[in-house]
Amino acid sequence: MTDNTFSTAKRKIGVPRALSYYGNYPFYYGFFTALGLEIVLSDKTTTGIINEGVERVVSDTCLPIKVFVGHVLNLLEKGCDTIFVPSLQSSSYKINNCSKIRGLPEIIRNVIDKPFRMIEPTIDKTEGISFKDFCSEIAHDFDIFDEDFISSAIKSGWEVYNNFHTMTNAGISYEEALKNAVEGNVIKKPVSVVRPLSVVIMAHGYNLFDERISMRLIKKLDKMGVKAYTALNVTKEDALNSIRELGEIQYWANELDLTGTAAYYMLNNKVDGIIALSAFGCGPDSLMVDEIQYHAKERKMPMIHLTIDEHTGEAGFVTRIEAFVDMLIRKKRKALEKNNVYTIPQLASAKKERFLTKV
Ligand code: SF4
Repeated sequence: MTDNTFSTAKRKIGVPRALSYYGNYPFYYGFFTALGLEIVLSDKTTTGIINEGVERVVSDTCLPIKVFVGHVLNLLEKGCDTIFVPSLQSSSYKINNCSKIRGLPEIIRNVIDKPFRMIEPTIDKTEGISFKDFCSEIAHDFDIFDEDFISSAIKSGWEVYNNFHTMTNAGISYEEALKNAVEGNVIKKPVSVVRPLSVVIMAHGYNLFDERISMRLIKKLDKMGVKAYTALNVTKEDALNSIRELGEIQYWANELDLTGTAAYYMLNNKVDGIIALSAFGCGPDSLMVDEIQYHAKERKMPMIHLTIDEHTGEAGFVTRIEAFVDMLIRKKRKALEKNNVYTIPQLASAKKERFLTKV
């Protein structure tokens, strides 16, 4: 063991449960733990956390940034004064994040007036700053300079990340896959959920898998008899090929999760409809959703766009989902009668369940 590998007490790193947490936490967990760091997670998003963020940033900032600010404050309240705020510029050459994600450390510096240490590594493949550089910058901030040790920690990060994706690709839910991945398990549970209807949700992970922000959209759909597919069920290769098949190009870093995922399910006719979930005022999402709406209309694929902000009420949100599902049921009833594929009682029971279940 080298000098860099910790005879001293564990050092802590606070990770806000927001933004890149939802895509990258399996990697962060494996990497930080292998570096010998103790991770402090902020609490799950609550109305209080949202309000704390809302109070500190200008009102036209998107909800996910306000939520991130709230999570940083939550970590400070927990006494954690070293906080991870990555600067994620571009994920591939000229494949960019939005300006708010790119400038996240600057936003945090400007809106939080309490003293703390920010770990703010940069990844910018357009400028030749690689993922390895990003990881090394984090390690250097904790006085770890042994390259072999850092490489081994990166490998540990990828192991947890790949295990997580092996499970989600097999249809295991986000929460279950995350729980098992960080515990070092890979479960192989047969996915036996049969639902008469299915949709694809195009959304950032930080909007969809944060249950306070999405208001448990996936669970609500499940109770309505609708299977929801997400970016976690599609390989990056399939998502990218689908964007190209539509004649479009990837510009945004999160484009595979949104355009690519919706395109994959639409082109393969694997779903009955598309749900776009985005934050009010998000520039990249408005472009990506418009693009998919155009292609969905051409293919007569039903689509709904749900926008969310801190004022979104659950009742109105549910009403819109119910109306959309109702329309899918009516549309599918016709198709199924014609093709004699499913029985009408299956659809009727989905509808009945929807009205009887409090979601
Ligand atoms: S992509 Fe949109 S929702 Fe996400 S941080 Fe940027 S502006 Fe906000």
